[in-house]
Amino acid sequence: MNKSDKKFDVAVIGGGPAGMMAAGRAAELGAKVVLLEKNSALGKKLLLTGNGHCNITQINHDARGFVEKLGRNGKFFFSAFSAFGPKEVVEFFEQKNLPTKVEKNGRVFPVTDDAIDVLSTLTKYLKDNGVEIITDAEVSGFEFAGNKISDMKLKDQIIKAGKFILCTGGKAYPATGSTGDGYAWVKELGHTIVTPMPALAPVRIKEDWVSDLQGLSLEVASISLWQNEKKQASFQGDLLFTHFGLSGPLIINASKEINLLLQNGSVTIELELFPEFTISELDKKLVLAFEENNRKDIKNYFREILSRKMLDLILKLAEIDPDKKLNFLTKKERQKIVALLKSLKFTVSEVMGFDQAMVTSGGVALKEIDPKTMQSKIIENLYFAGEILDLDGPTGGYNLQICWSTGYLAGSNTLKQ
Ligand SMILES: Cc1cc2nc3c(=O)[nH]c(=O)nc-3n(C[C@H](O)[C@H](O)[C@H](O)COP(=O)(O)OP(=O)(O)OC[C@H]3O[C@@H](n4cnc5c(N)ncnc54)[C@H](O)[C@@H]3O)c2cc1C
Repeated sequence: MNKSDKKFDVAVIGGGPAGMMAAGRAAELGAKVVLLEKNSALGKKLLLTGNGHCNITQINHDARGFVEKLGRNGKFFFSAFSAFGPKEVVEFFEQKNLPTKVEKNGRVFPVTDDAIDVLSTLTKYLKDNGVEIITDAEVSGFEFAGNKISDMKLKDQIIKAGKFILCTGGKAYPATGSTGDGYAWVKELGHTIVTPMPALAPVRIKEDWVSDLQGLSLEVASISLWQNEKKQASFQGDLLFTHFGLSGPLIINASKEINLLLQNGSVTIELELFPEFTISELDKKLVLAFEENNRKDIKNYFREILSRKMLDLILKLAEIDPDKKLNFLTKKERQKIVALLKSLKFTVSEVMGFDQAMVTSGGVALKEIDPKTMQSKIIENLYFAGEILDLDGPTGGYNLQICWSTGYLAGSNTLKQ
């Protein structure tokens, strides 16, 4: 194995958004930095973000609001948010000639709507600050002495550095290079890994009839998660039906909760099509509407209030002939329709795996990392940034903001001490 004759101040492992920010920031402050990426190019996953448009960040919240969105571990993020929050991220890109725009729900995108421009801006930032970028460089582990890393091992060479920033990401979308390599190393170095699980993923449903709804989308739908006949959580958002089950921002954001519940038994998702009415209010409305439209057949009346696919399914599940006239509909049949409109139940088969998950929940335990510097509390010269941390958020720019803020903090602190 060749020993590189160069010694770096800082070695950053992983050329995703967190690694690029960390490397650029450390170099900007004067460090001699090497960035190692196992793919042949940087930012493979970054290019897929926001359907190729890249939802860079999220500006709808102050620090408290943002942190709440990150759930149980959110508090860890306070310092990183204060050091380099969404406002600073927008300034960062705009000062580098990448104008941004704000879309629905505080989501920020480059004006060009193209993730490649975000990647080019970051690559220029690295080059302008003299970062040595080595691609096709798969790190295979570390050598360490005492509580410090001495060397980093690649296939055919060893790299020496004073500080190491680990940004190898999680396990989501492994085809992009995020195969969870970092977990094993840091475990070996004495860190705890909170079991990585797919998050922000679609959900497979047991009932075959769900495929009848394939392609249908509902804006601002309301769902509840049920387990052991108890309502466990409720969510609202845009829902999409697929050939295997449920997707869209609503389900993707609920998937982490669904996965946690699945550990204790089966989970049912209840969709309420008319959440603004109680069962008896909805029933009364239908009684009146049926009286006024009694010559219409069922399918023609309901098409005014339901999409064709949903109507066909509701009538199929209620076992009602769609051509029946409203005045021939029995009370029992009407009540069956009302019950389904108020509570259409889907049994969860599984949350789709890492191949389809947008992020990983779990990762390096945060109690072992200093939130002000991203420095390991176990290995003196090791830092972390990005998705490798046990920290993740919903869709809407939260996850990239985690990368920018933690990358910035890690990069800023490697020259200190
Ligand atoms: C389809 C999709 C869309 C998304 N859209 C958005 C969005 O619009 N907004 C948002 O906020 N978030 C989005 N996310 C989430 C976001 O992309 C991730 O949170 C983010 O990329 C994590 O960045 P990271 O730098 O921590 O890790 P990664 O982006 O996973 O980068 C890690 C890098 O490390 C490299 N690496 C791994 N092991 C080694 C090794 N042994 N040696 C050398 N290199 C190694 C990998 O090849 C990879 O390039 C999306 C995710 C997906 C999958």
